[in-house]
Amino acid sequence: MGKVAVAASVVCTAAVCAAAVLVARQQMKGSGKWAKAEAILRELEDECWASTSKLRQVADAMAEEMHAGLASDGGSKLKMLISYIDKLPKGDENGVFYALDLGGTNFRVMRVQLGGKEGVINKESDQVSIPPHLMVGSSHELFDFIAAALAKFIAKEGEDFNLPHGRKRELGFTFSFPVRQLSLASGTLIKWTKGFFIEDAVGQDIVEELKKAMERVGLDMSVTALINDTVGTLARGKYNNPNVIAAVILGTGTNAAYVEKIHAIPKWQGPTPKSGETVINMEWGSFRSSHLPLTEYDQSLDSESLNPGEQIFEKIISGMYLGEIVRRVLYRMAKEASFFGDTIPPNLKIPFILRTPVVSAMHHDISPDLKVVGSKLNDILEVPDSSLEMRKTIVEICDIVASRGARLAAAGIVGILKKLGRDPVKEGEKQQRSVIALDGGLFEHYTKFRNCLESALKELLGEAADNIVVELSNDGSGIGAALLAASHSQYLQVQES
Ligand code: ADP
Ligand code: MG
Repeated sequence: MGKVAVAASVVCTAAVCAAAVLVARQQMKGSGKWAKAEAILRELEDECWASTSKLRQVADAMAEEMHAGLASDGGSKLKMLISYIDKLPKGDENGVFYALDLGGTNFRVMRVQLGGKEGVINKESDQVSIPPHLMVGSSHELFDFIAAALAKFIAKEGEDFNLPHGRKRELGFTFSFPVRQLSLASGTLIKWTKGFFIEDAVGQDIVEELKKAMERVGLDMSVTALINDTVGTLARGKYNNPNVIAAVILGTGTNAAYVEKIHAIPKWQGPTPKSGETVINMEWGSFRSSHLPLTEYDQSLDSESLNPGEQIFEKIISGMYLGEIVRRVLYRMAKEASFFGDTIPPNLKIPFILRTPVVSAMHHDISPDLKVVGSKLNDILEVPDSSLEMRKTIVEICDIVASRGARLAAAGIVGILKKLGRDPVKEGEKQQRSVIALDGGLFEHYTKFRNCLESALKELLGEAADNIVVELSNDGSGIGAALLAASHSQYLQVQES
């Protein structure tokens, strides 16, 4: 479609939307609760609507904020944190390396055996769910729990993994929260996100905290690299495909990282001269812009959250929040339009009761009577007798909320491509192939979300889309961390010499 046609269709859709809202509002005046529910639905659709032109504005804003965040600390909502990684894995790494993964739904310990060109020849891991009280307790308790899990994992290792004399086990530590990196293997916690909140850890060196806890359990290991899941995903992607230039996580939270030239980082204070490349952890979850389509539900979710005013992009895109946004819409419908009958289902008042995987299951329901939606309503909200009309409305809410998130995530990716000069294609220049490594349960399991993201990318990139690929890059927070421990191993020179 040409520009004019796109613009015309955008105007057209806007007009249709506005008309629908108007009709719904008129109906509401004269008739009963159903019209009111319909009006709430159309208002939601209208306010969440991210047109192509709006997405372009978001992409431009993202690119601008990236520049500002690289120029100086605090120059942007985007922290643009420097990782100090200078060796991304090449695909020929060798040896046994470990990973610790903290910052998602579960905590994991992993051992990865790399066989040079053969790739990953063996991996083993233990997964432990973090008791909720440790997510909001003290730093000491949390790190003791982590070190104990690691010690237990190592204790059951067989003879096969005994290292040569004098050589310590090396660990990549994936800590997926905003960290101001001091060097490759040290960094201070800026703030917690995703439901963690341990006050005494803020401002502390996370690797020091881990090392002290390891000492307490008598574990002697080297922490070679401190990274986050996004940087790990980039490393994991690059290990398989040298065209990987950026990584995006769409899981409980959301974030992005990409490869940047050191000379393009005015605030660089690293040890090396201003040449070469490093990885920038954008912390794009904290992006915000006046172009983001926000609603009253987002505003109340934010103001009632643990971190009001922060992580606004994350709060409209990521798995932790999509279900909660849907719950808030339903709650308003129950209250103002008696959507579920005369009383509000008590469970609907419970924040976060509606999880994103449930939203996904309802959204993908293709049965004629939407029985998955019906059974979720019964199981979770204890609404036993929902009508088909109600179920359809709920699917539509899921669609509106998930599509907005997916389209905005696509706009964010285009922002990165713009920053790197990979979009649009310059006249007469052959476009380089760019691969974006994607990971996270939301992207992996929520098919409609993923399809919507991919089609929004095509919509925004036009012809350039042929050379830009998004690729699922599984388990960057585990394998990626071990790969970075390998590519930065302190024993590397010894081996090579
Ligand atoms: P984390 O981000 O916690 O490290 P994952 O990458 O596995 O872990 O992502 C888990 C998140 O992905 C969940 O919190 C949930 O929001 C989302 N998710 C998992 N499964 C699904 C699903 N089937 N549909 C939609 N979202 C899902
Ligand atoms: Mg994860």
